[in-house]
Amino acid sequence: MLPFEEALRQILQAAPVMSSERIALGLGAGRVLAEEVIAHTPLPTFDYSAMDGYALARQSLAGAGPWALPVRGESRAGAQPTPLEPGSVCRIFTGAPIPEGADAVVMQEDVARRGETAELRERPPVGAHIRRRGDDLAEGASALARGTRLNAFQLGLAAALDRSELLVARRPRVTILCTGEELRAPGSTATPGSIPESNGPSLAALVVSAGGVAALAPRTGDTLEGTERAIVAALRGSDLLLTVGGVSVGEHDLVRAALANVGAELEFWKVQIKPGKPLAFGRFGETRILGLPGNPVSAQLTFALFGMPLLRAMQGDRHPVPTRGRARLHADLSQKPGRTGFYRAVLDGDLAITAQNQASGSTASLADANALVIVPAHSAGFKAGESVETIRLAEL
Ligand code: AMP
Ligand code: MG
Repeated sequence: MLPFEEALRQILQAAPVMSSERIALGLGAGRVLAEEVIAHTPLPTFDYSAMDGYALARQSLAGAGPWALPVRGESRAGAQPTPLEPGSVCRIFTGAPIPEGADAVVMQEDVARRGETAELRERPPVGAHIRRRGDDLAEGASALARGTRLNAFQLGLAAALDRSELLVARRPRVTILCTGEELRAPGSTATPGSIPESNGPSLAALVVSAGGVAALAPRTGDTLEGTERAIVAALRGSDLLLTVGGVSVGEHDLVRAALANVGAELEFWKVQIKPGKPLAFGRFGETRILGLPGNPVSAQLTFALFGMPLLRAMQGDRHPVPTRGRARLHADLSQKPGRTGFYRAVLDGDLAITAQNQASGSTASLADANALVIVPAHSAGFKAGESVETIRLAEL
């Protein structure tokens, strides 16, 4: 059985990186940059005024103030102004280019305007209220690194740099194959012993939030032959195959045998985590395979912990693993040492309130949680008030 960290390391190290594609900026949120974005022009590209006011040359304010200067011309956003007439001020608006010859802007609140004359009391410092060409980014500077998972602010920067398209990693195609005679579509007629198939919709949503495209394969029952056929079909065209269920050691757990029979190579099939434990990882050619346990809490959490980082790594993401935080435990939390524990919790400020019901069958407590509290494998747990590591579910 592999420790959590080692299993994650092996999964990430094997990640094949997707080819790249050009997309419109508006479709870029959450995608991973496959290029470095360079500022091909300085940002901003010209000196402009940060205020509504008057542009002037400081040398025209000789001697002691106040000074009265004629107002000549106007600079407004989106137009090129004429050069500043010596000895005058130019009316200027926010975002408008600084006229040639001006070296400061006085904001209009500090100017008394009388007809065509502007009266000033104080001499502004050089460059007052001027945003200089290249202040934000110099020409040639690196704006966004390759491997950046794009957020709204980075898309804004790319647009400011005149980019309408970006090169990003192609979305990995993920096929989800659920196994089990007892499964039926949610909302369909119940038969004795049947249960709604609930992992597919959850896993598909996790796939999408990790940048992948999800497809649900037709469910398969618990025969070896049927499972093999379903696996062969689901591997086709997939960058990642998720099998769900049938991966533990019961007589009807056929997925590992079926994977081996169709020629998939399995690297490991057990990890020292709770919930989870049975988790198979392997490959078939370039397609990666994760064999998830069927139990919904285990399936969804093991995919969140291993599958989502894998999908991100397959897109070249520089930070494929969610950052961890810390919180104080609200109540004692104990475990039998041996497996890394991931406990459902609600984070409230810096307090972690772990769910009463940590049973791997309790999907309600998972739906209620907004974080996981992590207890290292060697630990027997922590006391109330002690500091523990956390992962926010929103950051997965
Ligand atoms: P298994 O790993 O196939 O032994 O399944 C473990 C438990 O999870 C059993 O109670 C299954 O009925 C249940 N289970 C397996 N797959 C799913 C699924 N896709 N949706 C909901 N429950 C499932
Ligand atoms: Mg099963």
